[in-house]
Amino acid sequence: MAGARVLPPVTELNRAYWTGGRDGRLLIQRCATCARWAHPPRAECAVCGGALAPQPVSGDATVYSFTVNHHRFNPSVPVPYVVALVELVEQEGLRLPTNIVGCEPAEVRIGMAVHVAFEDHGAVWVPVFLPVGG
Ligand code: ZN
Repeated sequence: MAGARVLPPVTELNRAYWTGGRDGRLLIQRCATCARWAHPPRAECAVCGGALAPQPVSGDATVYSFTVNHHRFNPSVPVPYVVALVELVEQEGLRLPTNIVGCEPAEVRIGMAVHVAFEDHGAVWVPVFLPVGG
């Protein structure tokens, strides 16, 4: 069961990202013209100006950077928790801000292999990442 969290505003642009987890899919925008992936969601491809559409990715990633938050910014969100930037295996530089869950914060390492999971918050399914084979 998902813990408390501050949920993101869902827009037309980011709706696929925040709701794909309902079907177990991490949906990232991909350019129909040059096949580059793009995140965060935007109106058109930054490389060629082509149209972007959400496509499923594998959910495999590595930890690019992270920090352990010990400060209780929101009284309903328990601390400590890991705020990380993970890089998806599909493309160099394709990085998502997320949380690493399923392990102690002290166990998280840069370069660690992780895989997506989803926290069900009703209208929003928040992509989080767990260690692989830990
Ligand atoms: Zn493009």
